[in-house]
Amino acid sequence: MPTLFEQEQSLFFQTYKRLSLDIVGGQGCYLTDRQGKRYLDFFGGLAVNALGYNHPRVVKAIKNQADQYIHLSNFFVQEPQVKLAEKLLSLSGFARIFFTNSGTEAIEGAIKLVRKWGAPRGKKNLFGLSNSFHGRTMGALSLTERAKYREGYEPFLPLTGHIRFNDVEDLRAKVNDNTLAVFVEPIQGEGGVNVLSREFCTELSALQAKHGFLLVADEIQSGMGRTGKLFGYEHLGLHPDVVVVAKAIGGGLPLGAFLGSQAMASAFTYGVHGTTFGGNPVACAAGLAVVEEIIDGGLMTRAGAIGERLCAGFEDLQKRYPALVTEVRGFGCMLGVQLSMEGQPVVDRLMERGILVNCTNTTVLRFLPPYIATDEECNRVVNELGEVLRSL
Ligand SMILES: *Cc1c(COP(=O)(O)O)cnc(C)c1O
Repeated sequence: MPTLFEQEQSLFFQTYKRLSLDIVGGQGCYLTDRQGKRYLDFFGGLAVNALGYNHPRVVKAIKNQADQYIHLSNFFVQEPQVKLAEKLLSLSGFARIFFTNSGTEAIEGAIKLVRKWGAPRGKKNLFGLSNSFHGRTMGALSLTERAKYREGYEPFLPLTGHIRFNDVEDLRAKVNDNTLAVFVEPIQGEGGVNVLSREFCTELSALQAKHGFLLVADEIQSGMGRTGKLFGYEHLGLHPDVVVVAKAIGGGLPLGAFLGSQAMASAFTYGVHGTTFGGNPVACAAGLAVVEEIIDGGLMTRAGAIGERLCAGFEDLQKRYPALVTEVRGFGCMLGVQLSMEGQPVVDRLMERGILVNCTNTTVLRFLPPYIATDEECNRVVNELGEVLRSL
Protein backbone atom coordinates (compact mmCIF):
# COMPACT_ATOMS: atom_id res chain seq x y z
CA MET A 1 0.00 0.00 0.00
CA PRO A 2 1.43 3.40 -0.90
CA THR A 3 1.40 5.91 1.94
CA LEU A 4 -0.70 9.08 1.71
CA PHE A 5 2.51 10.99 1.00
CA GLU A 6 3.44 8.69 -1.89
CA GLN A 7 -0.07 8.96 -3.31
CA GLU A 8 0.01 12.73 -3.02
CA GLN A 9 3.23 12.88 -5.00
CA SER A 10 1.91 10.84 -7.92
CA LEU A 11 -1.61 12.36 -7.99
CA PHE A 12 -1.13 16.11 -7.70
CA PHE A 13 0.69 18.80 -9.64
CA GLN A 14 3.55 19.25 -7.21
CA THR A 15 2.86 22.85 -6.19
CA TYR A 16 2.85 22.34 -2.40
CA LYS A 17 5.75 21.26 -0.24
CA ARG A 18 3.61 19.49 2.34
CA LEU A 19 4.47 19.03 6.00
CA SER A 20 5.40 15.46 6.94
CA LEU A 21 2.32 15.16 9.15
CA ASP A 22 -0.75 12.97 8.84
CA ILE A 23 -3.40 14.86 10.81
CA VAL A 24 -6.56 13.09 11.97
CA GLY A 25 -8.20 15.79 14.10
CA GLY A 26 -8.07 19.19 15.68
CA GLN A 27 -9.44 20.75 18.86
CA GLY A 28 -8.90 24.33 20.02
CA CYS A 29 -5.22 25.21 19.48
CA TYR A 30 -4.16 21.57 19.00
CA LEU A 31 -3.85 19.10 16.15
CA THR A 32 -3.46 15.33 16.58
CA ASP A 33 -1.65 13.07 14.11
CA ARG A 34 -2.31 9.39 13.28
CA GLN A 35 0.25 8.27 15.89
CA GLY A 36 -1.65 10.23 18.55
CA LYS A 37 0.99 12.96 18.94
CA ARG A 38 -0.43 16.40 19.79
CA TYR A 39 0.81 19.64 18.23
CA LEU A 40 0.29 23.15 19.55
CA ASP A 41 -0.61 24.97 16.34
CA PHE A 42 0.63 28.54 15.90
CA PHE A 43 0.56 28.01 12.13
CA GLY A 44 -3.18 28.58 12.40
CA GLY A 45 -4.20 27.24 8.98
CA LEU A 46 -2.24 30.17 7.51
CA ALA A 47 -4.35 32.79 9.27
CA VAL A 48 -7.67 31.06 8.62
CA ASN A 49 -8.28 29.37 11.97
CA ALA A 50 -8.83 32.45 14.14
CA LEU A 51 -10.97 30.47 16.59
CA GLY A 52 -8.84 27.32 16.45
CA TYR A 53 -10.23 23.92 15.48
CA ASN A 54 -13.72 22.57 15.98
CA HIS A 55 -15.11 25.72 17.58
CA PRO A 56 -18.61 24.77 18.81
CA ARG A 57 -20.24 28.02 17.67
CA VAL A 58 -18.87 27.64 14.13
CA VAL A 59 -19.67 23.94 13.87
CA LYS A 60 -23.24 24.55 15.07
CA ALA A 61 -23.77 27.37 12.58
CA ILE A 62 -22.52 25.18 9.72
CA LYS A 63 -24.75 22.25 10.71
CA ASN A 64 -27.83 24.43 11.14
CA GLN A 65 -27.37 26.10 7.77
CA ALA A 66 -26.62 22.80 6.00
CA ASP A 67 -29.94 21.52 7.30
CA GLN A 68 -31.74 24.56 5.83
CA TYR A 69 -30.10 24.99 2.42
CA ILE A 70 -26.53 24.60 1.17
CA HIS A 71 -26.86 26.54 -2.07
CA LEU A 72 -29.51 28.66 -3.78
CA SER A 73 -27.48 30.82 -6.25
CA ASN A 74 -27.05 34.56 -6.11
CA PHE A 75 -30.41 35.04 -7.83
CA PHE A 76 -31.84 34.65 -4.32
CA VAL A 77 -31.63 36.91 -1.30
CA GLN A 78 -30.05 34.77 1.43
CA GLU A 79 -30.37 35.48 5.12
CA PRO A 80 -26.83 34.35 6.13
CA GLN A 81 -25.31 36.70 3.51
CA VAL A 82 -27.47 39.63 4.58
CA LYS A 83 -26.73 39.12 8.27
CA LEU A 84 -22.98 38.84 7.72
CA ALA A 85 -22.98 41.86 5.39
CA GLU A 86 -24.85 43.95 7.96
CA LYS A 87 -22.42 42.91 10.70
CA LEU A 88 -19.26 43.59 8.69
CA LEU A 89 -20.46 46.93 7.35
CA SER A 90 -21.63 48.17 10.74
CA LEU A 91 -18.32 47.15 12.37
CA SER A 92 -16.13 48.61 9.64
CA GLY A 93 -18.04 51.74 8.62
CA PHE A 94 -17.97 50.77 4.93
CA ALA A 95 -21.08 51.14 2.76
CA ARG A 96 -21.22 48.14 0.40
CA ILE A 97 -19.91 44.57 0.24
CA PHE A 98 -19.43 41.78 -2.32
CA PHE A 99 -18.74 38.17 -1.23
CA THR A 100 -16.27 35.88 -3.01
CA ASN A 101 -14.84 32.38 -2.53
CA SER A 102 -11.24 33.31 -1.86
CA GLY A 103 -8.76 36.08 -1.24
CA THR A 104 -7.44 36.31 -4.77
CA GLU A 105 -10.96 36.49 -6.18
CA ALA A 106 -11.76 39.32 -3.80
CA ILE A 107 -8.65 41.16 -5.08
CA GLU A 108 -9.82 40.57 -8.68
CA GLY A 109 -13.22 41.97 -7.76
CA ALA A 110 -11.60 45.00 -6.12
CA ILE A 111 -9.54 45.62 -9.29
CA LYS A 112 -12.74 45.50 -11.34
CA LEU A 113 -14.55 47.81 -8.92
CA VAL A 114 -11.80 50.43 -9.02
CA ARG A 115 -11.60 50.14 -12.82
CA LYS A 116 -15.34 50.85 -13.12
CA TRP A 117 -14.92 53.82 -10.80
CA GLY A 118 -11.89 55.07 -12.74
CA ALA A 119 -13.16 54.61 -16.30
CA PRO A 120 -15.23 57.82 -16.49
CA ARG A 121 -12.43 59.70 -14.68
CA GLY A 122 -9.69 58.61 -17.11
CA LYS A 123 -7.63 57.03 -14.32
CA LYS A 124 -5.98 53.72 -15.16
CA ASN A 125 -2.64 53.10 -13.41
CA LEU A 126 -2.51 50.54 -10.62
CA PHE A 127 0.28 50.06 -8.09
CA GLY A 128 1.24 47.42 -5.57
CA LEU A 129 4.27 47.59 -3.25
CA SER A 130 7.52 45.70 -3.47
CA ASN A 131 7.61 42.37 -1.65
CA SER A 132 3.79 42.22 -1.77
CA PHE A 133 1.50 39.22 -2.09
CA HIS A 134 -2.09 39.68 -3.28
CA GLY A 135 -2.94 36.24 -4.65
CA ARG A 136 -2.34 33.86 -7.55
CA THR A 137 -4.79 34.85 -10.29
CA MET A 138 -3.49 37.05 -13.09
CA GLY A 139 -4.87 40.38 -11.84
CA ALA A 140 -3.76 39.80 -8.25
CA LEU A 141 -0.44 38.51 -9.54
CA SER A 142 0.05 41.71 -11.54
CA LEU A 143 -0.04 43.63 -8.23
CA THR A 144 2.03 41.00 -6.39
CA GLU A 145 5.71 41.84 -6.61
CA ARG A 146 7.55 38.84 -5.22
CA ALA A 147 9.50 37.21 -8.05
CA LYS A 148 8.95 33.69 -6.78
CA TYR A 149 5.22 34.03 -7.49
CA ARG A 150 5.54 35.91 -10.80
CA GLU A 151 8.38 34.29 -12.74
CA GLY A 152 7.23 32.63 -15.95
CA TYR A 153 3.71 34.09 -15.82
CA GLU A 154 4.38 37.18 -17.90
CA PRO A 155 2.74 39.15 -19.45
CA PHE A 156 0.79 40.81 -16.62
CA LEU A 157 -1.98 43.42 -16.67
CA PRO A 158 -0.86 46.57 -18.48
CA LEU A 159 -0.45 49.82 -16.53
CA THR A 160 0.43 48.03 -13.30
CA GLY A 161 3.60 48.85 -11.39
CA HIS A 162 5.24 48.64 -7.99
CA ILE A 163 6.33 51.20 -5.42
CA ARG A 164 9.22 50.30 -3.13
CA PHE A 165 7.95 49.31 0.32
CA ASN A 166 8.20 52.22 2.79
CA ASP A 167 10.12 54.32 0.22
CA VAL A 168 8.51 57.77 0.36
CA GLU A 169 10.65 59.12 -2.50
CA ASP A 170 9.63 56.29 -4.80
CA LEU A 171 5.97 56.81 -3.83
CA ARG A 172 6.17 60.54 -4.67
CA ALA A 173 7.92 59.81 -7.97
CA LYS A 174 5.36 57.24 -9.15
CA VAL A 175 1.84 58.38 -8.27
CA ASN A 176 0.12 61.22 -10.12
CA ASP A 177 -3.29 62.23 -11.49
CA ASN A 178 -3.35 59.15 -13.77
CA THR A 179 -3.08 56.84 -10.78
CA LEU A 180 -6.25 54.84 -10.31
CA ALA A 181 -5.40 52.92 -7.16
CA VAL A 182 -2.63 51.83 -4.81
CA PHE A 183 -2.99 48.38 -3.26
CA VAL A 184 -1.24 47.82 0.07
CA GLU A 185 -1.03 45.13 2.70
CA PRO A 186 -0.81 47.34 5.82
CA ILE A 187 1.15 44.47 7.35
CA GLN A 188 2.72 42.28 4.68
CA GLY A 189 2.11 38.60 5.38
CA GLU A 190 3.94 36.35 2.92
CA GLY A 191 6.60 39.03 2.52
CA GLY A 192 7.76 38.45 6.11
CA VAL A 193 5.42 40.39 8.44
CA ASN A 194 6.56 43.88 7.37
CA VAL A 195 4.66 46.84 8.80
CA LEU A 196 4.09 50.01 6.74
CA SER A 197 5.89 52.95 8.34
CA ARG A 198 4.08 55.99 9.78
CA GLU A 199 6.00 58.24 7.43
CA PHE A 200 4.99 56.24 4.35
CA CYS A 201 1.33 56.12 5.47
CA THR A 202 1.20 59.88 6.12
CA GLU A 203 2.59 60.59 2.65
CA LEU A 204 0.29 58.01 1.05
CA SER A 205 -2.76 59.67 2.64
CA ALA A 206 -1.59 63.13 1.54
CA LEU A 207 -1.06 61.98 -2.05
CA GLN A 208 -4.37 60.11 -2.05
CA ALA A 209 -6.10 63.41 -1.22
CA LYS A 210 -3.99 65.41 -3.68
CA HIS A 211 -4.35 63.14 -6.72
CA GLY A 212 -7.71 61.56 -5.95
CA PHE A 213 -6.63 57.96 -6.40
CA LEU A 214 -8.15 55.06 -4.48
CA LEU A 215 -6.43 53.23 -1.65
CA VAL A 216 -7.17 49.51 -1.43
CA ALA A 217 -6.18 47.74 1.79
CA ASP A 218 -5.52 44.02 1.38
CA GLU A 219 -6.52 42.80 4.84
CA ILE A 220 -6.88 39.19 3.76
CA GLN A 221 -4.31 38.09 6.32
CA SER A 222 -4.19 41.02 8.75
CA GLY A 223 -7.94 41.64 9.03
CA MET A 224 -10.77 40.21 11.13
CA GLY A 225 -9.28 41.32 14.44
CA ARG A 226 -5.99 39.45 14.03
CA THR A 227 -3.79 42.44 14.90
CA GLY A 228 -5.89 43.50 17.91
CA LYS A 229 -8.03 45.83 15.79
CA LEU A 230 -10.62 44.87 13.18
CA PHE A 231 -8.21 45.87 10.39
CA GLY A 232 -4.44 46.35 10.35
CA TYR A 233 -4.72 49.77 8.71
CA GLU A 234 -6.33 51.12 11.90
CA HIS A 235 -2.89 50.92 13.55
CA LEU A 236 -1.44 53.11 10.82
CA GLY A 237 -3.98 55.88 10.31
CA LEU A 238 -4.75 54.93 6.68
CA HIS A 239 -8.13 55.71 5.06
CA PRO A 240 -8.79 53.03 2.44
CA ASP A 241 -11.64 53.36 -0.06
CA VAL A 242 -11.81 49.59 -0.47
CA VAL A 243 -10.83 46.86 1.97
CA VAL A 244 -10.36 43.22 1.02
CA VAL A 245 -10.83 40.31 3.45
CA ALA A 246 -10.75 36.50 3.32
CA LYS A 247 -8.83 33.83 5.28
CA ALA A 248 -10.26 34.02 8.84
CA ILE A 249 -13.63 35.32 7.76
CA GLY A 250 -15.22 31.98 6.80
CA GLY A 251 -14.31 30.00 9.92
CA GLY A 252 -12.41 27.57 7.65
CA LEU A 253 -14.91 27.54 4.79
CA PRO A 254 -14.00 29.32 1.55
CA LEU A 255 -15.14 32.93 1.83
CA GLY A 256 -13.76 36.33 0.96
CA ALA A 257 -15.19 39.81 0.47
CA PHE A 258 -14.41 43.32 -0.61
CA LEU A 259 -16.00 46.32 1.05
CA GLY A 260 -16.27 49.78 -0.48
CA SER A 261 -16.93 53.28 0.81
CA GLN A 262 -20.09 55.22 -0.06
CA ALA A 263 -18.27 56.89 -2.95
CA MET A 264 -17.75 53.46 -4.55
CA ALA A 265 -21.35 52.30 -4.10
CA SER A 266 -22.60 53.17 -7.60
CA ALA A 267 -19.49 51.96 -9.50
CA PHE A 268 -21.03 48.50 -9.89
CA THR A 269 -24.43 48.07 -11.52
CA TYR A 270 -26.58 45.03 -12.39
CA GLY A 271 -24.69 42.29 -14.21
CA VAL A 272 -21.23 43.87 -14.25
CA HIS A 273 -19.78 41.42 -11.73
CA GLY A 274 -20.86 38.10 -10.26
CA THR A 275 -19.97 34.65 -8.95
CA THR A 276 -21.70 31.27 -8.71
CA PHE A 277 -20.46 30.18 -5.30
CA GLY A 278 -19.29 33.44 -3.71
CA GLY A 279 -21.16 34.18 -0.50
CA ASN A 280 -22.20 30.55 -0.10
CA PRO A 281 -24.80 30.49 2.69
CA VAL A 282 -23.02 27.82 4.76
CA ALA A 283 -19.77 29.80 4.55
CA CYS A 284 -21.61 33.01 5.48
CA ALA A 285 -23.33 31.30 8.43
CA ALA A 286 -19.88 30.16 9.62
CA GLY A 287 -18.57 33.69 9.02
CA LEU A 288 -21.33 35.23 11.09
CA ALA A 289 -20.50 32.83 13.94
CA VAL A 290 -16.81 33.82 13.68
CA VAL A 291 -17.53 37.55 13.75
CA GLU A 292 -20.04 37.27 16.60
CA GLU A 293 -17.63 35.15 18.64
CA ILE A 294 -14.78 37.63 18.02
CA ILE A 295 -17.00 40.51 19.22
CA ASP A 296 -18.89 38.77 22.06
CA GLY A 297 -15.76 36.98 23.28
CA GLY A 298 -13.62 40.14 23.33
CA LEU A 299 -11.21 38.26 21.08
CA MET A 300 -9.77 41.32 19.33
CA THR A 301 -8.51 42.53 22.68
CA ARG A 302 -7.32 39.01 23.38
CA ALA A 303 -5.44 38.89 20.04
CA GLY A 304 -3.69 42.12 21.05
CA ALA A 305 -2.74 40.70 24.45
CA ILE A 306 -1.41 37.49 22.87
CA GLY A 307 0.77 39.67 20.64
CA GLU A 308 2.13 41.65 23.57
CA ARG A 309 3.02 38.52 25.50
CA LEU A 310 4.65 36.80 22.54
CA CYS A 311 6.51 39.97 21.50
CA ALA A 312 7.91 40.44 25.00
CA GLY A 313 9.07 36.81 24.95
CA PHE A 314 10.58 37.05 21.48
CA GLU A 315 12.33 40.33 22.30
CA ASP A 316 13.82 38.63 25.32
CA LEU A 317 15.09 35.85 23.02
CA GLN A 318 16.53 38.52 20.73
CA LYS A 319 18.53 39.86 23.70
CA ARG A 320 19.73 36.36 24.58
CA TYR A 321 20.54 35.31 21.00
CA PRO A 322 21.33 38.57 19.14
CA ALA A 323 23.36 36.72 16.51
CA LEU A 324 20.33 34.58 15.59
CA VAL A 325 17.30 36.85 16.15
CA THR A 326 17.63 40.28 14.55
CA GLU A 327 14.10 41.73 14.73
CA VAL A 328 10.59 41.09 16.06
CA ARG A 329 7.74 42.58 14.00
CA GLY A 330 3.96 42.76 13.79
CA PHE A 331 0.88 43.12 15.97
CA GLY A 332 -1.39 40.74 17.86
CA CYS A 333 -1.72 37.29 16.33
CA MET A 334 0.43 38.20 13.32
CA LEU A 335 4.08 38.26 14.33
CA GLY A 336 7.38 37.73 12.57
CA VAL A 337 10.71 36.85 14.10
CA GLN A 338 13.53 37.79 11.73
CA LEU A 339 16.38 35.31 11.89
CA SER A 340 19.91 35.76 10.55
CA MET A 341 19.70 32.18 9.21
CA GLU A 342 17.21 30.03 7.28
CA GLY A 343 14.07 29.41 9.30
CA GLN A 344 13.30 25.89 8.11
CA PRO A 345 15.65 24.06 10.55
CA VAL A 346 14.02 26.00 13.41
CA VAL A 347 10.53 25.10 12.16
CA ASP A 348 11.54 21.41 11.89
CA ARG A 349 12.94 21.31 15.42
CA LEU A 350 9.87 23.04 16.83
CA MET A 351 7.72 20.45 15.06
CA GLU A 352 9.69 17.64 16.74
CA ARG A 353 8.85 19.38 20.02
CA GLY A 354 5.16 19.43 19.12
CA ILE A 355 4.87 23.05 18.00
CA LEU A 356 3.80 24.18 14.55
CA VAL A 357 4.88 27.52 13.11
CA ASN A 358 5.46 28.74 9.57
CA CYS A 359 8.55 30.15 7.93
CA THR A 360 8.05 32.77 5.21
CA ASN A 361 10.48 34.66 2.98
CA THR A 362 13.15 32.07 3.94
CA THR A 363 14.36 33.71 7.14
CA VAL A 364 11.21 34.87 8.95
CA LEU A 365 9.39 32.74 11.51
CA ARG A 366 5.72 33.67 11.17
CA PHE A 367 3.33 33.19 14.09
CA LEU A 368 -0.41 33.18 13.31
CA PRO A 369 -1.93 31.72 16.49
CA PRO A 370 -5.67 31.46 17.03
CA TYR A 371 -7.08 34.32 19.12
CA ILE A 372 -8.02 31.79 21.80
CA ALA A 373 -4.42 30.82 22.69
CA THR A 374 -3.84 30.93 26.46
CA ASP A 375 -0.97 32.66 28.28
CA GLU A 376 0.49 29.22 29.05
CA GLU A 377 0.41 28.23 25.40
CA CYS A 378 2.16 31.48 24.42
CA ASN A 379 4.80 30.96 27.12
CA ARG A 380 5.36 27.41 25.93
CA VAL A 381 5.99 28.54 22.36
CA VAL A 382 8.49 31.18 23.51
CA ASN A 383 10.26 28.71 25.81
CA GLU A 384 10.50 25.98 23.19
CA LEU A 385 11.78 28.48 20.61
CA GLY A 386 14.40 29.53 23.18
CA GLU A 387 15.45 25.88 23.62
CA VAL A 388 15.73 25.42 19.85
CA LEU A 389 17.80 28.61 19.45
CA ARG A 390 20.05 27.50 22.31
CA SER A 391 20.63 24.15 20.58
CA LEU A 392 21.76 25.76 17.31
C1 LIG B 1 -3.59 34.66 1.37
C2 LIG B 1 -3.53 36.02 0.83
C3 LIG B 1 -4.09 36.33 -0.42
C4 LIG B 1 -4.69 35.29 -1.34
O1 LIG B 1 -5.79 34.64 -0.76
P1 LIG B 1 -6.30 33.24 -1.38
O2 LIG B 1 -7.53 32.93 -0.60
O3 LIG B 1 -5.18 32.25 -1.17
O4 LIG B 1 -6.57 33.46 -2.81
C5 LIG B 1 -4.05 37.65 -0.85
N1 LIG B 1 -3.51 38.62 -0.08
C6 LIG B 1 -2.97 38.36 1.13
C7 LIG B 1 -2.41 39.49 1.94
C8 LIG B 1 -2.95 37.05 1.62
O5 LIG B 1 -2.40 36.80 2.79
